[in-house]
Amino acid sequence: MIVCKFGGSCTALPEAIKNIKELARDTDRKGFVFSAIGRESKEDKKVTDLLIAYSNGAQSAREKILEKYKKLLKFTGVRVKIKSRLCEIFNEYLKTKDRSKLLSRGEFLTAYIMSKYLNIKFVPAEKLLFYSGGALDFDKSRSRAKFYLSKYGRIVVPGFYAIENGKIKLFSRGGGDVSGALVSYLLDAEIYENWTDIEGIFEVNPSVLKSRPIKTLSYNDLKLMTSLDAKVVHEECANILSGTNVKLNVKSIFAPQKEGTLISKNDKSSSGYICFAQNDDSVKIYLCKSFKDYIIFNSTKENFKEEIRNLYSFLK
Ligand code: ASP
Repeated sequence: MIVCKFGGSCTALPEAIKNIKELARDTDRKGFVFSAIGRESKEDKKVTDLLIAYSNGAQSAREKILEKYKKLLKFTGVRVKIKSRLCEIFNEYLKTKDRSKLLSRGEFLTAYIMSKYLNIKFVPAEKLLFYSGGALDFDKSRSRAKFYLSKYGRIVVPGFYAIENGKIKLFSRGGGDVSGALVSYLLDAEIYENWTDIEGIFEVNPSVLKSRPIKTLSYNDLKLMTSLDAKVVHEECANILSGTNVKLNVKSIFAPQKEGTLISKNDKSSSGYICFAQNDDSVKIYLCKSFKDYIIFNSTKENFKEEIRNLYSFLK
């Protein structure tokens, strides 16, 4: 059984949205977790950033949020009274000032619309992911998740938040990945597909140089990489999944036929990688054969990219 999570870039463009529909034809995909609509282009803003701007007083963000949802409705052909739904959300925020609730509505509405498009039951995270004392209430969440899956066969869940003491608990930025990992774990998925806009996790950060996507990776290596500059998936994913049998597959919604990167608890990674950690003026470069076997080079903000390019030949 597969649980898939779609990042913001997957619901910003019609081509990606169509690919989601194609993927949903495979009935082995049973759990669908969505982030809020992301950026359509570099100049565009994510719904979550617009909601943050609104909570900081930018009235103009309201119109932009409406525009983004109107586009999603147009691309999917789904009919929802989006203007009045958003009005309710903004009015409630003005009364309660509950910022977590406001920000969580980005994923709520995106997942709701996508559930109609895919014709799969919508189960809000309010009914499924419970926290207590800052930690996942595993038993309650698991029995809920299993209940809804057996009742409906397949479910769509909004990412990025859970419920704690009856209130919305927001995860940190990029936390749709965390929801996807939790739902995969709770449902004992074989594979957690994390759909994004790049073809997996690369040997080197693509902002530094063009390298190859890594075919297979261990959770231990993923932990090291995400603690450094590799932010393709949220750092928490490796912590949640490393002790489980769930395999994490990072793939691009724009090239779904490509294998992407498959991460498992198996300690063998198919390739080495180079990562870095920036702090103030200095940069540490990690040339890694694996999480157990790496060399650190000290560099500077000005030189580190050039040094990484030179070091790359040692990986090949
Ligand atoms: N929408 C949230 C963010 O922009 C969570 C996510 O995308 O995973 O950070």
